[in-house]
This record gives sequence, structure tokens and C-alpha cells, in this order.
Amino acid sequence: MKELDISRIRGDFPILAREVYGKRLVYLDNAATTQKPRCVMDKITEMYATVNANVHRGVHFLSQAATEEHESSRRTVQQFIHAASSNEIVFTRGTTESINLVASSFCRSFCTAGDEILITAMEHHSNIVPWQLQGEIQGLKLQVAPINSKGELILEELEKKISPRTRLIAVTHISNVLGTVNPIEEIVAIAHRHGIPVLIDAAQSVQHTRVDVRALDCDFLVFSSHKIYGPTGVGVLYAKEKWLDAMPPYQGGGEMIETVTFEKTTFNKLPYKFEAGTPDYIGTAALATALDYVSALGIDAIARYEHALLVYATERLLTVPGLRILGNAGNKSSVISFLVDGIHPYDMGTLLDRMGIAVRTGHHCAEPLMELLGVDGTVRASFAFYNTKEEVDQLLKGIEKIVRMF
Ligand code: PLP
Repeated sequence: MKELDISRIRGDFPILAREVYGKRLVYLDNAATTQKPRCVMDKITEMYATVNANVHRGVHFLSQAATEEHESSRRTVQQFIHAASSNEIVFTRGTTESINLVASSFCRSFCTAGDEILITAMEHHSNIVPWQLQGEIQGLKLQVAPINSKGELILEELEKKISPRTRLIAVTHISNVLGTVNPIEEIVAIAHRHGIPVLIDAAQSVQHTRVDVRALDCDFLVFSSHKIYGPTGVGVLYAKEKWLDAMPPYQGGGEMIETVTFEKTTFNKLPYKFEAGTPDYIGTAALATALDYVSALGIDAIARYEHALLVYATERLLTVPGLRILGNAGNKSSVISFLVDGIHPYDMGTLLDRMGIAVRTGHHCAEPLMELLGVDGTVRASFAFYNTKEEVDQLLKGIEKIVRMF
């Protein structure tokens, strides 16, 4: 079994060598965004230095080279998630835009007033608000499947929430707050038994675990480049061709058209129908470099290493008196949300920061979940494959020091 050489890997990430407040950075905010390996930064520079030209429009050499890079990046994404065709890969600005696209286009085609979208209680705002916005336009209702005290989705309750008016189930693969890994295979199976398509929010999963859209048989799957070691400003919408064919364009403009007259426009073939305007072809090339980097490390080796780090960090943190972990699912990703009695998460985060330790504090864009948990916010440490047990020990030492201060 291939194991990761963490000290070599850390050398690929220049930012990990920097200091903050005179201390070596301990970066534990990977669920918010990941750091970038040098190859991703180099790709961006190389693209601007040697290939930059607008894609799809030019007969000249550079435009064709840029187009080839962009389309090759699409194939890299296709292979990474094992999609059947590159026509099923739509480039967007991120998970948020991908979900907004589906909310707008899917609902316009397949929903009428009174129809329902089913989500779960652990969704990020970006898998709640787009449905509400579209719901206001069309008179749609949001249904929410509950979770248990460990932070696991209650599958029987999810199935009970399905009604004859349910048009789509949109569910996160991994919770950015609780770390819960949802049983998406079973969710897709349940949904399809009822003839309902499923959208998977994979913003927190593609970087941690193998995702195979064909094995899963999901209808839509979305993720962000910046959370999988790629650049900001790029995201992916995977959708089965049958849905993309049936859905109207999301935005209008260049690239997405076939012919335009003042009377009528016909639209481009897939996936361009959903990619209005100049795409971020530099970003997509750098995303492909990031995916190649992750693939070379091996997603299974990454998953094993991160799981060991999660187990170690959980054990260590639970030795702190008064520390409570929120989210104790049987199947959990490398995200630990916690609270310590008598210490506000904001104070904990600020004091850890002064020790060079970057964690996130607050509601993590999941206010309804915070309300359900009965807390204003949490402290969240989220780990990537470049984090180490030594960094976990530093986090622990920092927390213990803060506890003593209070
Ligand atoms: N969904 C989940 C589960 C997330 O964790 C995030 C970001 O934290 C998003 C969606 C939104 O991602 P982005 O801001 O990159 O669009």
C-alpha cells in the first residue's frame, strides 16, 4: 500500500514554511480553503507566459493552444470523477455558482408551484439559499431531513420526507461543520426508487475521498477548485447529459450561443450552453494540475493518512477537560468542530491565532445547523494531507494554555 511522504509533500507547499507572529504557521483551516502546491502556481504563470489567448474564438495558434488546454482540463475533471463524457462537465466559479445554476435551470424546467426540494439539516448556506431564492420565484417549498445527536443523517426520516411533490434531493456528501460523511450511495438509491434526481454537494469530499459519479449514479455533483488545492474562482458542475439537455441556459452571452438574431437565439451544444462569457481557462488549467497532483499522491493514500490524523486529533483533544466535540458520526472526515466550557469560540480562535495556529470560528455558513445544535458557533480545525501529528500536538498545547488562562 502506498504511503505519503509528508515532509516531501510539505516542501511542495511554499506557504507552509512561512511564519506568522514569529511562529511557524500551523494551518488548520483547510475546509475553508486549501493551500496550493508550487506546481499549481507554476501552471498559472506558465499559462500567462506562454499560452494566454481567449479560448474557442480564434483561428490563431495561441487561441487554439489555450482552447486545447481548457478542453484537456475538462477531460482531467471528467476522469477524476469518472464521468461518462466531458459534455457532462460544466465549469463554473465554484460550488455556490454550480448549485445556483441547478436551482435556476433545473427548477425552471421541472418544478411548478407547490413542488418540493429536499435537503438535510447539515447543509451549507450555498445548498439552502439558492433553493429559497428560486422557491420565492416559483412557489417551491424546502423540506429538511433531520440528523441525530451524533450528527448523522436519519435515513428513514429522509425517506419519510419524500412526497409526491419532491422534485430533487440536494445533499452534502461531507458536512463542513460536523465532518459527517453521508451515505450518498444509499441516498441516491432511495431517491431513484422514488424517481427523484439527486444533487451531491462534494465541496468537502472530492479532496478527501474517492468520488465516482458513475458508480454513485448521482444526477448532479458540484465542487470548488480552491478546496482541492486548485485556484480560487473555478468550480465544477457535473450533470448527467439528459438533465443538461433538458435544462435551459443559466446565463446568456458569448460562448453559449449557436446563432443570434435580434428575434431569436439558438444555443450552443453541451457543455458550452451553460458557460456564458470567457471562461477562466487559466484557472481550469491550474485546477487540472491540482487534480493531477492529488491523483499522483493517490486519493486512497490521502484518505488513509487523513483518517489516522483525525483519530489521533480526536483522542488528543478529548483529553482537554471541558472540551466537547460537535459531530461524532461513525463515518467522519478530517474536520473537528469543538467548544470548551466557558471559552467563547471567538476568543479561542483569536488566541490560537497569536500562537500561529489558524482555525476557523463562527457559524461556518451553516446557521440553521448551529441553531439545531443550540450554539452560536464552534471552533473548527480541519486537516489536509500536509498536516502532521506534531501540528495536532501544537494545537492541543495551545488549547491547554488557553484553558489555563481562563
Ligand atoms: N458546500 C459546502 C459543504 C462547503 O463547505 C462550502 C464552502 O465552505 C460550499 C458549499 C461553498 O463553496 P464555495 O464558497 O467555494 O462556492
